[in-house]
Amino acid sequence: MSDSEPADSSPRYKRIVLKLSGEVLRGSGTDPIDSEVLSRICGQVKEIHEMGVQVCVVIGGGNIFRGLQGESRGVDRTTGDYMGMLATVINGLAIMDCLEKMDVRTRVQTAIPMDQVAEPFILRRSVRHLEKGRVVIFVAGTGNPYFSTDTTAALRANEVGAEIIFKATKVDGIYNKDPKKHADAVRYDDITFIDALRQRLNVMDATAFSLCLDNDLPILVFDLSDPHAIRQAVLGQKIGTLVHS
Ligand code: UDP
Repeated sequence: MSDSEPADSSPRYKRIVLKLSGEVLRGSGTDPIDSEVLSRICGQVKEIHEMGVQVCVVIGGGNIFRGLQGESRGVDRTTGDYMGMLATVINGLAIMDCLEKMDVRTRVQTAIPMDQVAEPFILRRSVRHLEKGRVVIFVAGTGNPYFSTDTTAALRANEVGAEIIFKATKVDGIYNKDPKKHADAVRYDDITFIDALRQRLNVMDATAFSLCLDNDLPILVFDLSDPHAIRQAVLGQKIGTLVHS
């Protein structure tokens, strides 16, 4: 799939889940949310939204807090995980605000009810929003500790019937070994779930990965710092690494 380029500029996918790790919102400074970076990412979302693609965003919280970080500060894992889930809400609201200012209509749905802040996650409403051309931003992860926002992306993608997960990160794909440590590391254009498992490649955490594997849901891992990355991904152009059945 990643090998061929479409002749026209029509999107290859109708409905996608874009998984953004919290870290992508951080710029070069210490601020967890860099406004320029945020605008650039939202501009990319707007671009594919205008191409008619139905977009769900699942946002992480690692730029603010991760559950495991709590343990070193004397915070229980479960409490830390709730703190991490709340961090995703902060990021999600930032994305909502930025997209709305770009005239992209959005709805934020949270897995932890907080009526004044966001809608509760209700699948049929999510789908309705997508059909009406709204970008749906899923926050608060799965609502359960001991999970990740990668698992949230896999779960929501299956629930809303997305065709693919775009996992936008700070690396440009999946390598056979750590490219930071090995100069001869090779990046895959595409790889099957089974080969990724056999080679113990760290595509997503095990729960997220198995949800995708069991349900034949492809994952495209790519570097978001390329300003046209999401558009290229939607057009099916060769970018990052595609993990598939
Ligand atoms: N988290 C959780 N349950 C979920 C999703 C997230 O407990 O369903 C917590 C967990 O502590 C995690 C934090 O929220 O460390 C932030 O999410 P994640 O680490 O996935 O964010 P990312 O690395 O993508 O920025």
